Amino acid sequence: MPLVRTGELVSAAAEQRDGRGGVAAFNVITLEHPEAIAAGAERAGRPAILQISENAVKFHGGRPAAVAAATAAVARASAAPLSLHLDHVESAELLRAADGEGFSSVMFDASKLTYEANVAATAEAVAWGHARGIWIEAELGRVGGKDGEPPLGAHAPGVRTDPAEAVAYVSATGVDALAVAVGSSHAMTNRTAALDHELIGALRRAVAVPLVLHGSSGVPDDEIRRAVAAGMVKINVGTALNTAFTAAVRAHLEADPKTVDPRKYLAPAREAMTGTVAAFLKVIGG
Ligand SMILES: [Zn+2]
Repeated sequence: MPLVRTGELVSAAAEQRDGRGGVAAFNVITLEHPEAIAAGAERAGRPAILQISENAVKFHGGRPAAVAAATAAVARASAAPLSLHLDHVESAELLRAADGEGFSSVMFDASKLTYEANVAATAEAVAWGHARGIWIEAELGRVGGKDGEPPLGAHAPGVRTDPAEAVAYVSATGVDALAVAVGSSHAMTNRTAALDHELIGALRRAVAVPLVLHGSSGVPDDEIRRAVAAGMVKINVGTALNTAFTAAVRAHLEADPKTVDPRKYLAPAREAMTGTVAAFLKVIGG
């Protein structure tokens, strides 16, 4: 089917009132990722967001066009409703490259800046995006744990998103969705994160726009269900796919070290990611 728009998927999820209003966003690195995400979404009978991060664009030589075109082509060939999202963009140049590459949404990440500088940079990104029909997500607080960043202590000051500051931030920037720091962290390879459900509820009551959970790979299924029931709408999953991918590659190469054809290990890697995607979609979709 044609590409759908991220804003439509998130709004549709947010409007469900049975506590099952989540939509998952999965990170794309190689071509096997969108193929697995599309297959997993078809298997689960759910929509999904395909997201390409600034770090993934850097991996592809700093040029987003090829990976975006391939991901969009996989989405268009799928029976599942899928959208294309550009994730964790810090570069103004890359933000502008989003226009015309099939992205209907961008997560603009100024969370490393001071509050005032974050507001100014994000408001500018929102004005740019809205002039082009592009939906903009931003982050307040620090989720932490991305490659090259020092880990943040779960209770370090300034890490969690403050509800009153979130209200002011959404109003000052005009963002369409807000990524909040509520206890998850990026790049976790075990599922042991404990979320601050009281804070999620307080943010949900305070902020009108949909909330986004980053670092969901490290969050146990029950915690994700509770977070969605409490009002988290966009649930981002990256590392869990790579854990499945790499485990399948490692198992194949350990069993058959003479393998030279990459299809021999990429096929089970893709199938492992498909299973992971379908499992997450069942948790998030109720
Ligand atoms: Zn993230």
